Amino acid sequence: MSIGIVWFRADLRLSDNPALYAASQSCDTIIPVFIDDTHSNTLNPLGAASRAWLHHSLQQLQHSLAQHGSTLILRQGSALETLSDIIKSSGATQVFWNRLYDPISTQRDTQIKQTLSTLVSVQSFNSSLLFEPWQILKADKSPYKVFTAYWKQVLQQGINHPLTPNPLHINPPPVLPHSLKLNNLQLLPSKPRWDEAMMQHWQVGEAAAHQQLEYFLTHGVAHYSINRDRPDLIGTSKLSPHLHFGELSPRQIIHATTHYKSTHPEWSADLLKFESEVGWREFGYYLLYHFPQTTTEPLDQRFKQFPWRSPSEYAADLKRWQQGTTGFPIVDAGMRQLWQTGWMHNRVRMIVASFLTKNLLIPWQAGEAWFRDTLVDADLASNVLGWQWTAGCGADAAPYFRIFNPITQGEKFDPDGAYVKTYVPELKGRNAKVIHAPRQLGEHYAYPLPIVDLAASRARALAAFDAIKIK
Ligand code: FAD
Repeated sequence: MSIGIVWFRADLRLSDNPALYAASQSCDTIIPVFIDDTHSNTLNPLGAASRAWLHHSLQQLQHSLAQHGSTLILRQGSALETLSDIIKSSGATQVFWNRLYDPISTQRDTQIKQTLSTLVSVQSFNSSLLFEPWQILKADKSPYKVFTAYWKQVLQQGINHPLTPNPLHINPPPVLPHSLKLNNLQLLPSKPRWDEAMMQHWQVGEAAAHQQLEYFLTHGVAHYSINRDRPDLIGTSKLSPHLHFGELSPRQIIHATTHYKSTHPEWSADLLKFESEVGWREFGYYLLYHFPQTTTEPLDQRFKQFPWRSPSEYAADLKRWQQGTTGFPIVDAGMRQLWQTGWMHNRVRMIVASFLTKNLLIPWQAGEAWFRDTLVDADLASNVLGWQWTAGCGADAAPYFRIFNPITQGEKFDPDGAYVKTYVPELKGRNAKVIHAPRQLGEHYAYPLPIVDLAASRARALAAFDAIKIK
């Protein structure tokens, strides 16, 4: 009887899962394993909100596996030691996993593959991208740094790939290796249980991800090109955490959008726009793979000299930004949406990131770290891409002079102030015409005065760009 191990990581689903399918083809029995290696992988720790999501996602995966008579083996510790131990105790002869692309996981997986290959057969697959980063290159074999050129080539190669068939079986071996209980992983916070309110905004797991996709395609995509910029409307899919944890694959999304393009040709432009946003996610992984140093360093090396304020100068301002008390309503609404729901609208992510890096002159890494801890969709590739793009130091970045004005951005994208009123209840009674303006001295709202003067902070940012000769 051949036994195979399937190591689940960012692919917490049974459908369109190439590693699981391959195991079901070549093994009589399968041991599905999840290893929480946070403590031995200190360079790539999961944030607190992501850990809460992971708890629920693993629970859903356990349920799905149980429906096939299988059990998810949960372990904590070094991935190599754990896999070696399971191989030894079970007699497994094959190991399967789906690939990750961040520098730390890539390095770790290469090491694991080298070590385990002396004992068992090891196979890895692509489950989370339309194309792997090395498949899309310029004519001279160098990587793209501009999204439009990158995406054009991706489209030329075709994005509607066939889905992986469902696993033929997930039969467990007669004796299963030891497993921890889900609660033993301690993914949920100890008191206070802030996660309970946050998770009420979400349905987690593979089935929920498919429902969300279907709901968005039937109710939201028709006006996506316009509504995607409106935080006061439900204009986007909210699929990002599902994609991050692999409850849904980009191939499954494209499969569905292709279907809707044929049944609803009138939605084609919106569906193409939606697909290109999934393309931005791909581009983030692509850049991370080709430029692994960008997790902490600016892609544009000139920014290494950028005159950011020092931590002792900015500590108090950073705290006000994190708490959503900057005195700029759209910024504060975004930061409070993040705190309450573990998610923030993309347009508002750009506004708060521009505000932090340009108006407050706080390094993008400080914002990236806060997002990593508080977003349920925190994703190294997309987060670094978003922060470097906004700060002006990444690939295809926003030009340096693009300093979002939080007042005009609010007026344009939250015209009635409904978004601000949802998350900044202090301003509920304020006239919609002025709801985005900072509070003036003398106004009687229990809402903070602005943390900076917009014009002066904009001039300070432009002078900082001058200092590193970016014009
Ligand atoms: P939709 O508009 O419905 O888009 C569908 C999918 O496309 C998303 O689920 C996402 O996977 C992808 N996508 C959309 N926009 C982008 C984008 N600009 N960059 C990369 N992928 C995109 N996204 C994350 O998933 N994790 C992060 O940690 C993250 N951090 C960000 C930080 C900053 C400063 C900025 C400006 C953006 C960040 N984004 C991040 C990208 C984007 O804001 C979210 O992916 C999007 O808001 C998710 O909402 P949605 O699923 O409704 O998106």
